[in-house]
Amino acid sequence: MSFLQQIQARFRPDSCSSCRCPMEMVKKQLYAMPGMSVGHFAPMEDAGYFKKALVPVAKKADIPTGIYACGIQHYRCPRCGRTVTKLTTFLPVRDQEMVEQILYFKKGEMDDFP
Ligand SMILES: [Zn+2]
Repeated sequence: MSFLQQIQARFRPDSCSSCRCPMEMVKKQLYAMPGMSVGHFAPMEDAGYFKKALVPVAKKADIPTGIYACGIQHYRCPRCGRTVTKLTTFLPVRDQEMVEQILYFKKGEMDDFP
């Protein structure tokens, strides 16, 4: 895979990096991260951390003020079954989202996470 293809694969989770097939979003869920408050953000990359730290919420208004939130989108390739989980960490500020971190889990690390 060329460097350019790697970059494209990294930033376009909606197409499968194996067969280029458009991936389907199978599930998405919003979470609060009570352990991460404003002014104390630390970038995390460990799937295990998120599995322990995240608390599912129904809507953004349910996230306490000053607490970071996390959106998770599960993608699946309809052709080869490859999965990618996109995890976006952000701070909800009024009607905006201040995005801190975007992670892609491509080895099934988050497949068992609801
Ligand atoms: Zn595929």
